Amino acid sequence: MDQNYSFYGSVKKSFEKAAAFTKFDKGILEQIIVCNSVFSMKFPIRRDNGDIEVIEAYRVQHSHHKEPCKGGIRFSENVNQDEVMALAALMTFKCAIVNVPFGGGKGGIKVNPRDYSAYELEKITRRYTSELVKKNFIGPGIDVPAPDYGSGEREMGWIVDTYQSLKPGEVDNAGCVTGKPLSLGGVRGRKEATGLGVFYGIREVCKNKHLMDKLGLSLGVEGKTVIVQGMGNVGYHSAKYFRENGAIIVALAEFEGAIYNPKGLNEEEVFQFRKKTGSILNFPGATNIENSSLALELPCDILIPAALENVINAHNAHNIKASIIGEAANGPLTPEADEILLKKGKLVVPDMYLNAGGVTVSYFEWVKNLSHVRHGRLEKKFTENINNTIIAEFEKISGKPLGEKERRIISKGPDEIDLVHSGLEETMITATHEILDIWLKNPEIPDMRTASFISAINKVATMYGELGIFP
Ligand code: GLU
Repeated sequence: MDQNYSFYGSVKKSFEKAAAFTKFDKGILEQIIVCNSVFSMKFPIRRDNGDIEVIEAYRVQHSHHKEPCKGGIRFSENVNQDEVMALAALMTFKCAIVNVPFGGGKGGIKVNPRDYSAYELEKITRRYTSELVKKNFIGPGIDVPAPDYGSGEREMGWIVDTYQSLKPGEVDNAGCVTGKPLSLGGVRGRKEATGLGVFYGIREVCKNKHLMDKLGLSLGVEGKTVIVQGMGNVGYHSAKYFRENGAIIVALAEFEGAIYNPKGLNEEEVFQFRKKTGSILNFPGATNIENSSLALELPCDILIPAALENVINAHNAHNIKASIIGEAANGPLTPEADEILLKKGKLVVPDMYLNAGGVTVSYFEWVKNLSHVRHGRLEKKFTENINNTIIAEFEKISGKPLGEKERRIISKGPDEIDLVHSGLEETMITATHEILDIWLKNPEIPDMRTASFISAINKVATMYGELGIFP
């Protein structure tokens, strides 16, 4: 990897490429790409062995054009300020693309969670949260973190608990973080949201005849071969929804290696196997690929990098055989890789649109926290009563009673999970069409990433213009 590579620089480069297609004032464009506030912190914790260790961490608020700021907290030994800035910027564009009313933010804690006990991680997370509180960098109307690489429900639980103990009586304080366990104010459907959003996004793209013809692919996801890199929350759920909808998962990759089976892999079986043996390798019926990154180069229709940034770069982009590359991770392609894949006629479906399912459902969680009522609680029974009346009328007129199964399907009022999934599906479909409308109507726009950036810039710049925020 190039030592001088800057992830933020690469986001900026893509932004500028897109900005050239817009007519906004230079100053407005600059205000949109810069990071508004960068909080870099250091704090000590005592390790289980008695040593004191200084932890390095960040929270970046990229844009305040809408508040609160929103974005996950990454726990990784590779965290640095440049990376957190890039990821925060991507959050601004991501939220704009899927019409979620937040500015972008991101946090990072420079630790490898595998090297720490649960108790140590709890201390780190709680201390990080109190640092954020001290500097007014967290709150339901200020900045709302969420899970990211290396963090999940457990960490979000520690955050909300710490925040609530420091801000007692703030009636909306459960909305200070999303991705929480259900019992602490989480929403049903958050866990699978990013993976499901990836599936909905690619499914929508695969419905576009013009694009599929250009790639020489048939319409639809069914029967397509898929490779997923990363078996974390996003990779696991992406694989699950592709498989359940008729795609064939031919390879799965993790950092210790990858496995290949042209007949198809079941992500749950692989997940259980890895949990038991500690490795994805030697999964029954599959071929081992010791060098995990070579899995990216295997033939398939759809490649889903769902782990970290820069995994497809100037060194390996030439070898990518997939027709569609769906960026489930944030920044898995470098700008050089983007150029190479474009020349090879590949379709890159960009991160800030494709993996927006997580923040979309985070938005539904935040709305739930502010409204203090579970989604569906008010309308479920009402809808069921109406549906039952319609069924009774239908049976009266037709003289035929409905079967038990049909009756159940038609009469059902929505539960929270139904509403969350439907809201996510609708969001991804709308965003896809907004982007494709921009892209396919203007032959000058080279790729879908540029079109996505243009979609985001249009929305954010218009907002700045309408706010007249410049003194
Ligand atoms: N970390 C996720 C992302 O990169 C989710 C952010 C959120 O839910 O706020 O989009």
